[in-house]
Amino acid sequence: MVVYPLAKKSLPVIYSPDFKRHLPGPQHPESPLRVEAIWRFLENGPLRPFLRIVEPKEAPFEWLTQVHDPHYVMRLEEACLKGQTHICGPDNEISFDSFEVAKLAAGAVLVAVDLVEREGETLVFCPVRPPGHHAEKDRALGFCLFNNVAVGARYWQKTYRRRLLILDWDAHHGNGIQHAFYEDDSVFYVSLHENPRLSFPGTGLAEERGAGVGEGYTLNIPMPLESGDAEYLKAFQEQVDPAVKAFAPEGIMIAAGFDAHRDDDMSFLNLTTRGFAALSAYVREWSRIFKAPVISALEGGYELKSLVASVETHLKVLLGF
Ligand SMILES: [Zn+2]
Repeated sequence: MVVYPLAKKSLPVIYSPDFKRHLPGPQHPESPLRVEAIWRFLENGPLRPFLRIVEPKEAPFEWLTQVHDPHYVMRLEEACLKGQTHICGPDNEISFDSFEVAKLAAGAVLVAVDLVEREGETLVFCPVRPPGHHAEKDRALGFCLFNNVAVGARYWQKTYRRRLLILDWDAHHGNGIQHAFYEDDSVFYVSLHENPRLSFPGTGLAEERGAGVGEGYTLNIPMPLESGDAEYLKAFQEQVDPAVKAFAPEGIMIAAGFDAHRDDDMSFLNLTTRGFAALSAYVREWSRIFKAPVISALEGGYELKSLVASVETHLKVLLGF
């Protein structure tokens, strides 16, 4: 029997040290040290007794191409094998193993979906890299090679027919996820992000609400620069919570970036660790109400101390500590 709200106190974590084999240059903020720091905390910290460590598998071509153009998938493979140093722009640095690691990151989310559906897990965490939410159908963007959450959501939706909520609280708009589901009424994409008129990638205006049958199933909430816990909680209370309750998700995915933390230089947002706890508490509540399992996958978050502290509080709140 599946117990809600996430009361199983089991924390499957889909992790492999191979995530560290994607090597952007030494000056690049999306460093292997990010997942190394999270992993050290998980292995040695207070959540250790609840951990269930599960190996990721590479996402198969057939699932990657549910979101990505096959030519892009092949172009990325070729670029890595040829020793190219970046793809689709200087931000997206790659190394020889990046193609394999990117397949592993997307595949981790597929493994998470299977754990939920076949083994009754109610919360799965995927501390993956490279991140995914900026990756578009036919190009890498913003350090992202494959769109891990979008590929996982497609797999979940097509294999198990779930109505899915994707909540993206990374400091930046998840343009790739939005575009993958823009005309889909069974995946509700909700993103809070730094004002796109002033911030990368420039999409995510409130007017972008979906199209066709998907109209109304994209909710963008641009946050003014310097927004902190109070502004985020107001947005959750007034906009996000009522919209999610009206949608009634059967499954919840979090594009869990932590670069809106006030100690993270990647944005001018000022969330604190307590703020991430409060946002996570909303997810826990929706999970309880709708008996919806939660899959959380790492996106941004570059300042290691606040990244680890935010991941800790996020998982503790979801587990009900
Ligand atoms: Zn970000």
